[in-house]
Amino acid sequence: MAAMLEVKDLEVAYGKILAVKKISFSVEQGQVVSLIGTNGAGKTTTLKTISGLLRPTGGEVWFQGERIDHVAAHDIVTRGLAHSPEGRRIFPRLSVEENLLLGAFSRRDPAGVRSDLKAAYDLFPILGERRKQPAGTFSGGEQQMLAMGRAMMSRPKLLMLDEPSMGLSPIMMKRIMTTVSELQRQGTTILLVEQNAQAALKRADYGYVLEVGKVVLSGTGRDLLVNDSVRKAYLGED
Ligand code: ATP
Repeated sequence: MAAMLEVKDLEVAYGKILAVKKISFSVEQGQVVSLIGTNGAGKTTTLKTISGLLRPTGGEVWFQGERIDHVAAHDIVTRGLAHSPEGRRIFPRLSVEENLLLGAFSRRDPAGVRSDLKAAYDLFPILGERRKQPAGTFSGGEQQMLAMGRAMMSRPKLLMLDEPSMGLSPIMMKRIMTTVSELQRQGTTILLVEQNAQAALKRADYGYVLEVGKVVLSGTGRDLLVNDSVRKAYLGED
């Protein structure tokens, strides 16, 4: 069977700067797949291109057997691919609940939306307790929960998370990463972009290492965690 997400020879440029240079990878249904790499490796550019926010200059993106690299971003969400962006991008003046409902913009099943709102509050009780508060009053970790909850409101088959652990305390980071495993258990496939290689690889069925726009290494999360060059470059070991 074909993979749920297939990225083939993807190339993305900002003007003359080639940020992504013919990268290929795939995500099988039910997996957590991690993309790791340092600043500027092209991870965010890759996710933005998959979700239709940027157009590739070359290559192809396939989701559930259909080519999507020229499909509009809102249509990609409707097909079941959601993106929780780097820096969270929540709407600070809107309430928590209003932010969550924005994630359900493409849905026409109010009863399902209500039940998913409840599921988001079950997953992150603090969101339910403060659902009327402006999202801008939340801490970084709470905003991350909100961004993840909002992405889940489109009931995605594949959830892409861009650096969910960025700027979080170790406890909050653990909480977010536990949620990644919980969402996988509930049946969501996850593409996780992280600079925190340890946390990302620990939970990954498979991982890809990006350096200056190219995939330089790939393997199971477990294999990459014990790989010498990964340990030196990303886990801070000699
Ligand atoms: P980070 O973790 O810092 O976000 P990243 O791996 O996600 O890194 P990208 O943000 O995808 O990397 O950036 C890849 C390359 O593209 C970098 O060289 C970056 O400077 C460049 N780049 C990113 N966004 C733009 C932009 N809007 N205009 C021009 N160049 C950009």
